[in-house]
Amino acid sequence: MRNVILISLILLLLGCSRTPQSESVDLYVFGTMVTITTWGAPSEARQQAIAEINQTFQQMHRDWHAWEPGRLVEINRAIAAGEEITVPADIAGLITRSQRLYTQSEGLFNPAIGGLLNLWGFQSSERPNGPPPSREEIDRWVASAPHMDQLEIANGQLRSSNTAVQLDFGAFAKGVAVDEAIAILRRYGIENAIVNGGGDLRAIGSKGDKPWRVGIRHPQGEGVLAALDVSGDESVFTSGNYERYREHEGVRYPHILDPRNGMPVEGVTSVTVLHANGGIADAAATALVVAGVTGWQRIAARMGIEAVMLVDDAGTVYMTPGMQQRIEFTAIPPANIITAEPMAANQGELE
Ligand code: ADP
Ligand code: MG
Repeated sequence: MRNVILISLILLLLGCSRTPQSESVDLYVFGTMVTITTWGAPSEARQQAIAEINQTFQQMHRDWHAWEPGRLVEINRAIAAGEEITVPADIAGLITRSQRLYTQSEGLFNPAIGGLLNLWGFQSSERPNGPPPSREEIDRWVASAPHMDQLEIANGQLRSSNTAVQLDFGAFAKGVAVDEAIAILRRYGIENAIVNGGGDLRAIGSKGDKPWRVGIRHPQGEGVLAALDVSGDESVFTSGNYERYREHEGVRYPHILDPRNGMPVEGVTSVTVLHANGGIADAAATALVVAGVTGWQRIAARMGIEAVMLVDDAGTVYMTPGMQQRIEFTAIPPANIITAEPMAANQGELE
């Protein structure tokens, strides 16, 4: 009997040691590959969670896409026609959360700029070509001034006071999707995981007795610029003006647009933000690219973001102390690093 127990124990131990502790799977959403890595998760819970995440991602892709036919496209058509339309709860949630982020970012994060993105050719899966839109077209869009506060939802009905509003959640949806995936993992009892969409990620728990170690994409070209340890619950999002752009006669027009003048943002290569919430980190990273070298501290404070790194086109790195404490440069450290606090004086204006 004792031998049987002993043998069972040995088999059990062998079985455990054979179970891989860190496992990854790739899913697709919004044209991006999202890698889900779990640590020490029971395989049945893991498989069920991943199946549910996959389904949720597919639904988000269908319903939230800004130009492939679906719910958001219908909503945009109704807004353009000056009609009221019923909005499902998930899209209503995206709108109300975006309204808050719009206000906090002083309008720099503005998902009502679908019309401008379309004008610039960025509502396409292909890289846009040819000359940029004319100054007149851009000015006409700027004068129409679509923004998030022109939307009102009552009893599930959406109305816009401006027919030029066209919703595009390209700067926000990936963050929300990553948050949703983490929520699903937790519902299945999985507490140690990373959901990583092309370098934008949220990590919970740890990798056994070590923190998760994650990289920050190098803004110019391939590879990793810096690395940091993440444990507990934290998101790392980078918005770059280097990946998607329009090119004409040697001039690049990047895909992050300044709603104030209708033009692509110049001078900022990338912004990386750390924040617990993926959706907020995603929206803030985009807003801080628009805010640029002179405005990022003010907007970061207003949005409640403590850890920011901004890299400008000259390669100068601007960081908050909260970021500097955390990151380690993996390659050669940048020649010029400027540490600056978010402008806390503005914090009083927050609700
Ligand atoms: P990436 O992770 O690809 O760098 P971002 O999170 O910065 O992307 O989002 C960029 C996308 O956000 C653009 O492709 C466009 O759909 C949208 N966008 C561009 N400018 C703005 C803006 N000022 N406010 C809100 N959304 C924007
Ligand atoms: Mg973003």
